[in-house]
Amino acid sequence: MALIPSQLDNTTCDVAIRAAFLHFVEDPGQSEHNHEYIEDGIMILKQGRIQALGNAGDWLDYLPDGLALYDYSAHLVMPGFIDAHTHYPQSEMIASYGAQLLDWLRDYTFPTEIRFADRAYADDIADFFCREMLRNGTTTSAVFATVHPQSVDAIFEAAEKYDLCLIAGKVMMDRNAPEELRDTAESSYRQATELINRWHGKGRAHYAVTPRFAPCSSDAQLQVCAQLLKEHASLYIQSHVAENRDEVAWVSELFPGHRSYLDVYDSFGLLTERSIYAHCIHLDEEDRKRMLQTGATIAFCPTSNMFLGSGLFSLEMAHNHGIAVAIATDVGAGTSFNILRTLNEAYKVCQLAGHSLTAFKAFYLATLGAAKALHLGDRLGNFAIGKEADFVVLDLNATELMQRRMARAESLEERLFALMMLGDDRCVQATHVMGRRQYLRGQ
Ligand SMILES: [Zn+2]
Repeated sequence: MALIPSQLDNTTCDVAIRAAFLHFVEDPGQSEHNHEYIEDGIMILKQGRIQALGNAGDWLDYLPDGLALYDYSAHLVMPGFIDAHTHYPQSEMIASYGAQLLDWLRDYTFPTEIRFADRAYADDIADFFCREMLRNGTTTSAVFATVHPQSVDAIFEAAEKYDLCLIAGKVMMDRNAPEELRDTAESSYRQATELINRWHGKGRAHYAVTPRFAPCSSDAQLQVCAQLLKEHASLYIQSHVAENRDEVAWVSELFPGHRSYLDVYDSFGLLTERSIYAHCIHLDEEDRKRMLQTGATIAFCPTSNMFLGSGLFSLEMAHNHGIAVAIATDVGAGTSFNILRTLNEAYKVCQLAGHSLTAFKAFYLATLGAAKALHLGDRLGNFAIGKEADFVVLDLNATELMQRRMARAESLEERLFALMMLGDDRCVQATHVMGRRQYLRGQ
């Protein structure tokens, strides 16, 4: 039941937020009535959950004494951004020069990931990563750890400290990697099982079975992935597919009996509605059909795809096939932790592919669209009553250039578009997680 202003007291609310509010209720690609915008609004929370959202004028007189009121009147509040694919261990190796995928893994990624055998180092980077999420307004991420089980403990413990919703898992790779980063089918099963028992469903932690990509796993290890999914129905699975042409060719050598790269995962039963596949650039018609039939999600990583020169993902083709898509940074091949900058690059990728990504669709992909794709739509992604109050407070006038551009904008959509083209971490004024402020710019 929706709360009404006269019911406000200390038993029905403990936090109120005043701001302009924008959130999505439907996919802008499918429905005209896709968002709600309240220019001077109040959002009422109780124990970190949304109780009401309405016009400030209707609610202000009824706010009880002792309530925590955050006044962000000059700013825009949106649901916290969701990053559907990223690698926390690669935080410090972002912006490593001059290679395409396979060389980049060998020369930069693997040497970096070897360091995560050291738990203290993993803890340091995990904490930094979570603080970067908050500084950029991201409140949920799907994250790769490394092959070391302690790297998973490190990121879940760091996320727990800030109450962040996190999907993460131990990378599985038993071949085509340096010896220090290889596990075995048997050890990966045992370690993943221990981590699942320790973390999956604890607070806001979700475990994802995480084979790095098909070239790094034997048939036996891919079978282990399927076994884990069978034993624990609510697990996610995350991996990479069809990112780079040399990688696609390598997979066809390693798995000669398969119709396509995606078919390797499919044949092991690893396409499920709780699966997240990063990139999906070089898919064919049959692959797209299978993505739709299985309900798998594509993580669209524009800054990474441009940085490694991997190719142009066709958002339009995915949309026309009805495949779920969420936006992702893919740090450290991705060049920014910031979702605004990621949407900027997504727009350009779409332009090069011959269609224009609207601002509404872009922000939908980073909020409700991602929440639905990741099966978190019942608790995250917009400001519906009962949902968890993860949100970002955005300053649309963070720079003089933005002030000048916003002053000329004539509609909400025009302002949002300027935000996604010109905005970055300087726009993130504050980030709240389960209602609590976990980041305030300048403090
Ligand atoms: Zn990745």
